[in-house]
Amino acid sequence: MSDKCLSCGACTYLCPTCYCFNITDENDGGDGMRGRRLRSWDNCMSSLFTREASGHNPRMGKALRLRNRVGHKFSYYPRLHEGVVSCNGCGRCITGCPVSVDIREMVVRATEPDAKETPNA
Ligand code: SF4
Ligand code: SF4
Repeated sequence: MSDKCLSCGACTYLCPTCYCFNITDENDGGDGMRGRRLRSWDNCMSSLFTREASGHNPRMGKALRLRNRVGHKFSYYPRLHEGVVSCNGCGRCITGCPVSVDIREMVVRATEPDAKETPNA
C-alpha cells in the first residue's frame, strides 16, 4: 500500500492524535548573542524523520514508515497506555491524502489471519 504514498506528510499534519515535533535553535540576528528555540510539527512519513547524525536511517523506505505510523497508533501506543488506541476514527488522514491511502484498509489487512510481513522496502 505504500507504493502510491508520496511521503507528503498530510496524514500526520491533519491527524488530531499525531503529536511528533522537532526542536530547532535559530540565531535571532543582532549581536549574535541571542537566539530562539522553536518547536514545530514534524512527521514520521518524511524520509528525514529518523535520519541520524551519522547519516544512517532506520526507516528509509516508505513501507517501513507507513508500517510504523499504523503500528504506533494500533499496537505500540496501546501497549503503553492500557489498550487505548491512538486513533479516534475521524478519517481526516483518508480524505486529506492526495493518493487515497486508507488506514482502515491497512488495519484490516494487517489483522487478517494470513497477513504477511511488510517487506523492508
Ligand atoms: S482516522 Fe485516526 S489516524 Fe487518521 S487522522 Fe483520524 S485519528 Fe488520525
Ligand atoms: S497523506 Fe497519503 S501520500 Fe501523504 S504521506 Fe500520508 S499516506 Fe503518504
